[in-house]
Amino acid sequence: MENKLYLVIPCYNEEAVLPETAKRLKEKITSLIEKGKIDKASRIVFVNDGSKDKTWEIICSLHEQDKAFSGINLSRNRGHQNALLAGLMTVKDHADMTISMDADLQDDIDAVDEMIDKYLDGKDIVYGVRSSRKKDTFFKKVTAEGFYKLMNTMGANTVFNHADYRLMSKRALEGLAEFGEVNLFLRGVVPMIGYPWDVVYYERGERFAGESKYPLGKMLAFAVEGITSLSIKPIRMITGLGFFIFFVSIVMLIYSFVRHFMGETIVGWTTLMVSVWAIGGLILLSLGVVGEYIGKIYLETKARPRFIIEQFLNEE
Ligand code: UDP
Ligand code: MG
Repeated sequence: MENKLYLVIPCYNEEAVLPETAKRLKEKITSLIEKGKIDKASRIVFVNDGSKDKTWEIICSLHEQDKAFSGINLSRNRGHQNALLAGLMTVKDHADMTISMDADLQDDIDAVDEMIDKYLDGKDIVYGVRSSRKKDTFFKKVTAEGFYKLMNTMGANTVFNHADYRLMSKRALEGLAEFGEVNLFLRGVVPMIGYPWDVVYYERGERFAGESKYPLGKMLAFAVEGITSLSIKPIRMITGLGFFIFFVSIVMLIYSFVRHFMGETIVGWTTLMVSVWAIGGLILLSLGVVGEYIGKIYLETKARPRFIIEQFLNEE
């Protein structure tokens, strides 16, 4: 049978949710095995992203008690995206399909059944899409949906309202492994892989314990990361702005000459001050954006490893 499923779950300071998450996922896996949809050797893999609490100890003891649980320990905290990638790349050669999800089970685990059905139908990538955000706070809903819209207008095409809850086949993972970029934004890169894909809709629940590891600041940084690592639209926009300012300055030149020949030139301190500041601001802004890309080039040329695995607990 060729339906070995590996669930990949990045965990950062998740001691409050792990025992319950482990229990529910084990039940899910067991029922899928009983239905004959997945192989008996399927695994639940927790990736410890340099947690400061007892997360890794809990993962180790789960693995001790039950070989259905595997664990990957990263050498330090690298953030959700890198932890997820570390997990996917590590299990790639063991699994026929992987499903990535968050440790807090905000993503409805019952959607897994449907994802697997679509995989069995021949889909390589199945995106989990939130059908509504009723359970999110108003603030989270507005900022999160704003995030997807901003991303799309800035040229980073992503699946709307899809986070990192998705199924990927072995073939799709091998495709992903070909992307050597260091500034990795999975949601933008996965659609670039191609292959047959589909979506599954689900309701997003509340975090049942612990608190969000994605405050607004991190979310904004994530959006900037996503845009600058996927598209060069911001640079194009600056070029457009440059053309526009150039046009305005020509109009201003003509206007100043006209005023000059009419003998009305002394007034203008205000205009001068305003334009000096406006242009100064624009230049700084432009430099900032250009700098952002240069920073990216700098990091890419270093070709740093995206993660380092300290330990991989897994029993075949
Ligand atoms: N996470 C991680 N490393 C980090 C931050 C978060 O591995 O540096 C994991 C976290 O343990 C969880 C997932 O990423 O499994 C999503 O985080 P969270 O639920 O806090 O985000 P939210 O649902 O609030 O957007
Ligand atoms: Mg969450």
